[in-house]
Amino acid sequence: MDDSTSSSAKWHNNESIPQGSCTNNTPRTSGIEAIKEGVRIETVASEYGEFKLAGAGRLLGRCVSPDHEDKTPSMTVFTETGTFRCFGCQAHGDVIDLEGLAGRHADTWTAMVALSVRYAVELPGRSETWRRWQSEKLSIEAVAERTKFEVRCRRLFKLMILNAPEIQKIVDPNERRAEIALCWESFRTGMREVRR
Ligand SMILES: [Zn+2]
Repeated sequence: MDDSTSSSAKWHNNESIPQGSCTNNTPRTSGIEAIKEGVRIETVASEYGEFKLAGAGRLLGRCVSPDHEDKTPSMTVFTETGTFRCFGCQAHGDVIDLEGLAGRHADTWTAMVALSVRYAVELPGRSETWRRWQSEKLSIEAVAERTKFEVRCRRLFKLMILNAPEIQKIVDPNERRAEIALCWESFRTGMREVRR
């Protein structure tokens, strides 16, 4: 069995991979290496189906090809070589071929991009854009997290402090307002400490 097949292998029986629109001048091979190093084939396989250990370094599951209705598990994933083969439809290749097959990608490049995004693997030659995109994504996520935290703070404050008898029984509205302001400060500080 030839499991040293590269990502230029056929993943469909009678259809060769069209050459993709690689938008930069990066040699594809280095991108392929980056993906193979950064993405475990068994992880991708388990995204598309249920794979069970069938021996040392071998996982068995139903074929992930949308075109192969696999009644009995025919696909083996070789974790040591990072390759797969379906003994039903003969689809085979590496992790990028697997993504290409299961994700119905038109070419190798889009399969590589999909994996690089899902598994946060940097593709060579895209480092600048990728890094900017990553840090922007992280910043946006941090802002969203902080906002959600503030919402939780306000809801809890209303529920646990604002309606508490200790506050409610202060008759003078100015005094009550001042007390609420003090409470909010200490509540928020306390919540931040809890969060840490
Ligand atoms: Zn198959």
